[in-house]
Amino acid sequence: MCTTYLATELVREFEDYDLIGNPRLVRLNPNVPWKTRGNGAISLLLGKGQGRKKKIGQIGKKSIHAYHFGVNLSAEKSDFERVCKVVDRLAVFDDENTNPGIVIFDRKPSESFYWHTARGIVTLEGLDFLVEPTFKKGWKNGRGQIGATAAVAWKPKDRTYEIIAYRERKKWGNKRKIDEASVISMDNKFFSTFNNYDYEEKHMAIAPNSPCPVLFGIRGDLELALPKAMKAVKSEAIDRWLIFLTNQGTDDHIYDYTIGNLKPFNSVRSVGVVSRNPEMLEGGHLVFRISSSGYEVDCTIYEPAKKFREIGAALRIGDIVIVYGGVREDPFTINVEKIKIEQLADYMEKVSNPKCPTCKKGMKSIGKGQGYRCVKCGTKARERDAVFKPAKRSISEGWYEPPVSARRHLSKPLKRMKIG
Ligand SMILES: [Zn+2]
Repeated sequence: MCTTYLATELVREFEDYDLIGNPRLVRLNPNVPWKTRGNGAISLLLGKGQGRKKKIGQIGKKSIHAYHFGVNLSAEKSDFERVCKVVDRLAVFDDENTNPGIVIFDRKPSESFYWHTARGIVTLEGLDFLVEPTFKKGWKNGRGQIGATAAVAWKPKDRTYEIIAYRERKKWGNKRKIDEASVISMDNKFFSTFNNYDYEEKHMAIAPNSPCPVLFGIRGDLELALPKAMKAVKSEAIDRWLIFLTNQGTDDHIYDYTIGNLKPFNSVRSVGVVSRNPEMLEGGHLVFRISSSGYEVDCTIYEPAKKFREIGAALRIGDIVIVYGGVREDPFTINVEKIKIEQLADYMEKVSNPKCPTCKKGMKSIGKGQGYRCVKCGTKARERDAVFKPAKRSISEGWYEPPVSARRHLSKPLKRMKIG
């Protein structure tokens, strides 16, 4: 089931503790082959709050607060059993990619574990190198413990927030009632939010497509703006809401790799020169090739990215690009998440055939690629003697990204890149 809903149930269960900081929703490497769709994990820091607190949610009539600071407490076996009970009650184990895991730490595991799980492949054996959790449990293949550990290990540098509003239980599985016009006006009014509405596909990106308890989620840079943004959306009744601290939209998964060093399942930023013109494959996927230092790699913009493919299709040999994306194993290709066209190659286009230097008349082509000949005196000319002018390109240098609906949770939207 939706992991974030589980967080609200844990908040309810552990009323006898204080929440220190927001619950965290942490997304991990989107290219791991055995992940769930969102590859997310949640973590809560429970203890005894100190000093100021802020409202971060509402469950039914009850306001949920989080303290800025607090005293850590050691977890008891009974705490662990309470967590297990909540997971057992809510987890849906049917999907083969749903492999829940719980970890409880009295001390934070190394931050590097987060970076490994956000950017690469971490196995259950990889967990052995860590501070041992005080308590742990894995269901099915147990891999959920990896994400859970990463969510605890995360020390935010760049960070965003997501306010998630949930549906009343009786509505689960039914069509969501959200007023589209109110989502568009919210998107225009709250500048610090992002990925709300897909203007290209006319799609409310705040609402999930799955039958989960989430009504909608609004992402943004400013926590303070989110409750108002939520209220600006006209919708069916909201059963509960909670503001998560997240790594969504931060590009934390991206790491610089030269083309010669690319490995499957990594998320990369690579610079290269277009070395083969784009080609549209069956199924509507667009492929172009880039090279650097003698190495080459294909880059694919998949069909769901819709109009973003037109950017790829306009690239030509010699263009310099910076490609962001996940490396796929088979076929070996970068699944493009974002692209910066650093430099467009100068292309010349033919204006007319060359003129005969003697007769001053236009010459005729001998055949494709074979040059020209004067019909009157027989003088020959080469292909490149024709009259050329700089070609006008259909794209400009700069940044491009897929429409909102086709973006990854972790991808930093251009809107955020301009802010920060
Ligand atoms: Zn001539």
